[in-house]
This record gives sequence, structure tokens and C-alpha cells, in this order.
Amino acid sequence: MPFRCPVCDQETIRARDKWASNSFAPVTCSNCRAEVYASSRLTALWRIAEALLVTLVVLLAFVSGQPATLVIALVFVLILEVLRVMLVPLVKLERVGGGFR
Ligand SMILES: [Zn+2]
Repeated sequence: MPFRCPVCDQETIRARDKWASNSFAPVTCSNCRAEVYASSRLTALWRIAEALLVTLVVLLAFVSGQPATLVIALVFVLILEVLRVMLVPLVKLERVGGGFR
């Protein structure tokens, strides 16, 4: 299921490429050659939320003495990363490594 390029509006960006993209390593649209990446600001916020959630679950694992809780943390992260790729918008690259959006 490809994602729409924010420049030409064609579905040219593969999920895997979007997941791995950032302003230092953008994805090139195969249609319009624009360089795009998943929004850094939202990705950063998303990762903070993931880290907090995982910290909570790991603490819970220690407190409850249930190491299986760690598996739940891993599943959480996988689900959150899939959601991130689905929800965080692609933005057009203005300058490699530049800006924070
Ligand atoms: Zn394009």
C-alpha cells in the first residue's frame, strides 16, 4: 500500500521507504523526483510517546515480576511504528538535514 507523494499526489512512496525516511535520508518520488520524508517533528513526538510507554511497561514488568510483560512492550512498539508510518505525514525536503518539520 504506497503512500501519496505530497508534491505530485501520486501513490509512489512505499511504506518501508517512508518508515526509514528522515530529513537526512529522504525518499525520492519515482514520478516527480521530489525528495520527501516522514515529518521529523511528529516522528520525534511519536518516538517520545513510544519511549514513555515502553518505560512504563518495563517498570510494570519489574514491579509485577512478570517478564512476559516485556513481550507486550515489544508488540506495543511494533504496533506504534506501523501506526506512525500510517499517520505521520510526508513532507517535501527543502534542504538535506535542514529544518525540523
Ligand atoms: Zn511525486
